[in-house]
Amino acid sequence: MVEPRLRSRSLKRVQRRTPGGRTVTHYRREKPNKHRCGRCGKILNGVSNDIPSRIRKLSKSEKVPTRRYAGVLCANCLERLIRYETRFEVKFRYPEFKDIELRRDLTLEKFLPRGWWQDISSEK
Ligand SMILES: [Zn+2]
Repeated sequence: MVEPRLRSRSLKRVQRRTPGGRTVTHYRREKPNKHRCGRCGKILNGVSNDIPSRIRKLSKSEKVPTRRYAGVLCANCLERLIRYETRFEVKFRYPEFKDIELRRDLTLEKFLPRGWWQDISSEK
């Protein structure tokens, strides 16, 4: 029988042929789930999922895209967030756009820094 630690069913088993022709069982740790968007739950592209010891060996650019909210929001939700942010900046900073009607979207706003709404709405 194999070592007790290898009897765990949370380890994946793979059959491998050795150079000597024997078939042996290799034990592998299961990969964690893929990272998902914090707003819509879509699987994030360009974000590695692997066991932490192997993630640590990757370079920064291999772990996550180089962009705001990378690894947190998907590209679609990020675009919406940036557009949302910009619309409110325009509304409060430029008097000619003061009257445009905008609805607040808390599913997006929760990803903006704390106090963002107070800062932007009190700005004169
Ligand atoms: Zn999303």
